[in-house]
Amino acid sequence: MNKLTVRDVDFKGRRVLCRVDFNVPIKDGVVNDNTRISAALPTIKYVLDQGGALVLMSHLGRPKGKGYETEFSLKPVAGRLQELLGRPVKFGPDCIGPDTLAMARALKPGEVLLVENTRFYPDEGKAKVADTATEEEKKAAKAEMKKKQADLAAKLAPLGDGEIFINDAFGSAHRAHASTALVCKYYKKNVAGFLMEKEIDFMGRALSNPEKPFVAILGGAKVSDKVNVITNLLTKVDSLIVGGAMAYTFYRAKGLPTGKSLVEEDKVDLAKDILARAQAAGVKLLLPVDNVIADKFDAAAQTKTVGEKIDEGWLALDIGPKSAELFAAEIRKAKTVVWNGPMGCFEMAPFAAGTLAIAKAVAGTKCLSIIGGGDSVSAVNKSGLAGKMSHISTGGGASLEFLEGKQLPGVVALTDK
Ligand code: AMP
Repeated sequence: MNKLTVRDVDFKGRRVLCRVDFNVPIKDGVVNDNTRISAALPTIKYVLDQGGALVLMSHLGRPKGKGYETEFSLKPVAGRLQELLGRPVKFGPDCIGPDTLAMARALKPGEVLLVENTRFYPDEGKAKVADTATEEEKKAAKAEMKKKQADLAAKLAPLGDGEIFINDAFGSAHRAHASTALVCKYYKKNVAGFLMEKEIDFMGRALSNPEKPFVAILGGAKVSDKVNVITNLLTKVDSLIVGGAMAYTFYRAKGLPTGKSLVEEDKVDLAKDILARAQAAGVKLLLPVDNVIADKFDAAAQTKTVGEKIDEGWLALDIGPKSAELFAAEIRKAKTVVWNGPMGCFEMAPFAAGTLAIAKAVAGTKCLSIIGGGDSVSAVNKSGLAGKMSHISTGGGASLEFLEGKQLPGVVALTDK
């Protein structure tokens, strides 16, 4: 990686500001999943062990941006972090302002402070404009938001001492927000934390210098969500496997009957274009050859397995066993695999087999396997095979934008080596 990382700087005696991704599921004040907190621990421990004091900030959920909302408070996370870290964690009642700033300034080496949700401020995010707004109004709202974001970044910056800022929040790196990118201008050295470094290293390795054959597996709901990923990957992969509801827009493009399956009518021409481009680029594009279809979108629906023709009035909710085997055979030949999106409605037991078969196939290879995106990650976790993958990305949107070949603002803002 061509950016500075925590390994390149000395934290002794510094008060370090660090952006983490503690956007965890919380219900009734209880943290339900530690994954993201645990993922930040290596960086946190490293700084504290080196004699730095640490101020952590994060967003949580989507509050209205009009001030404090109990439901979105990071306070329960401070408690959980304290348990996992085995050291006291102080909690700042706000992310800016004199009280929190005083707590930050009072930190001693080895001490850690988590401050309150950055999204309690409307400036931490996108301009919200009504669909009915004119172009002029949209422009004005954007400019206003940019100004607010810059102001918030200036207020967050003094939480640290201005020397070292760490960004370990890969999951938010695709956003040019106050706490991810804009705050960097107030720091001498902006460095990647261990998690950020790992994400960029793995994904970068797959995209810039993949060992061949390189197989991409794309699934999930919509072609429109993944079209930029497909476009970027078509120039790099040897094979592209398409499953999930996306496949049926491709079916339609090939003139196959799709019944009531989810098809994006306005993306059928795009699917035709992708099929032609794959052929021109010599990329093998594999679609399901059989499907599990249902008479309704329901776990208790009547189901059957059919070939490429979906019965009138039925909808395809998973790839069939022949497709799973065809895809698995392709995966077994791969040296690099990138997977984003489930093969079917895996949340419902009768339609989970296709996704599970793919998880097993990827887990069974010795190749570099990268799982990116929220739903494929939960599918892999559900399968119990997570430990067999080379890398499971912590960032849904960020990993998707990385796969699209976009520069992530949170990464761009880090200091070059
Ligand atoms: P995405 O967020 O684009 O990766 O889409 C994931 C969602 O796509 C999951 O909630 C799946 O249930 C859904 N999905 C996958 N395959 C199908 C299908 N054949 N029909 C409808 N929804 C699907």
